Amino acid sequence: MELITRLQQQLQTLEERSLIRRRRTVDTPCAPRITVDGRTMLAFCSNDYLGLASHPHIVAALKEGAGLYGAGSGASHLISGHSRAHALLEERLAAFVGVNLESARALYFCTGYMANLAVLTGLAVGDRDTEIFSEALNHASLIDGTRLARVTTRVYPHADLDALAALLAASRAATKIVVTDSVFSMDGDMAPLPELLALCEQHGAWLVVDDAHGFGALGDNGRGALEHFGLHSPNLVYVGTLGKSAGVGGAFVCAHDAVIETLIQKARPYIFTTAAPPAMAHALLASLDIIAGDEGRQRRAHLQALVAQWNAGLQLRHWQPLASTTAIQPVIIGENAAMMDIAACLYQQGLWVGAIRPPTVPVGTARLRVTLSAGHTVQEVEQLINAVNHLERTRHELE
Ligand code: PMP
Repeated sequence: MELITRLQQQLQTLEERSLIRRRRTVDTPCAPRITVDGRTMLAFCSNDYLGLASHPHIVAALKEGAGLYGAGSGASHLISGHSRAHALLEERLAAFVGVNLESARALYFCTGYMANLAVLTGLAVGDRDTEIFSEALNHASLIDGTRLARVTTRVYPHADLDALAALLAASRAATKIVVTDSVFSMDGDMAPLPELLALCEQHGAWLVVDDAHGFGALGDNGRGALEHFGLHSPNLVYVGTLGKSAGVGGAFVCAHDAVIETLIQKARPYIFTTAAPPAMAHALLASLDIIAGDEGRQRRAHLQALVAQWNAGLQLRHWQPLASTTAIQPVIIGENAAMMDIAACLYQQGLWVGAIRPPTVPVGTARLRVTLSAGHTVQEVEQLINAVNHLERTRHELE
């Protein structure tokens, strides 16, 4: 009983600090209009940036894939779980993203979380010979990857190129790995990738780019952040996730053949887990067709128009929107309880936005995390803009 009491006390403390997370149950496919616990809501909180999660062609491909390959893979990739669907997807991803790299291959993972653990543990060559340089606002999966790699890790301040340059110059490690999100998941801004890559080339370092929020959404062809900035380099190791813009699930690493072969041989998050259902890989081929084609281009253009509309329409004096040109549009409120209350007011009006608290973000910077999607209409975004503007005004008039 004592063990349970200790857990309950811990949960009680979270409750008192407005830090308890509650899940809501969605009864309908992921889309802007959904039914949540029996109630129709307009959602601005998914990462389905292109609105592909319930696209009929991708859903049909998932069903077709189940018919072709069955429900599950049955084993890990190195035993018998590596299906033709996985192999075809990896070839397509390498051809698609690999134009920005050298001798590229791609490797499909069950999740982005695992891909990030795999890259950082796989690239680290001996604990004395490797140093990792990690951006301060990196995603939790990258932070956990640095911990699992068990090598010296130096965290550089957000977007601070001078600080990173000084750390790289002082390092004696033979293998240096700089790792960064491309689009910061809770802030929406982008890393200065061209400058980071130049620094890495100058210091002979790898640049690991987690493009979870860029793949599919950025670049003329949807290839992501590397295409957006026009970057090419053998030093790049690219991680793209496939459960966000691509609308399905899983992730991939695209890098030089030697990196991919190392991950296959060494990376425990790749080796010791059952391969994702092959039908997912089959559905992702359909998703890539859309992302790379005219429809993808139109969806990206619509998304950008919605981002511009949101930025132009917000009129806030007390809450602080962060500067962002991506689909992630945070508004800082500050204290947890106030932010939860504001999110609840919006929810009562049928508007569901992300409510982000520490430890996901620093203490005192609790925020609404609005995510826009090509699935939204101009009218729906207008509705949210009006609701947020109005709520701020009424709350501050009351104070
Ligand atoms: N990297 C970033 C920047 C993310 O935001 C996320 C997911 N929120 C991940 C990695 C993990 O990807 P996945 O959800 O596929 O595990």
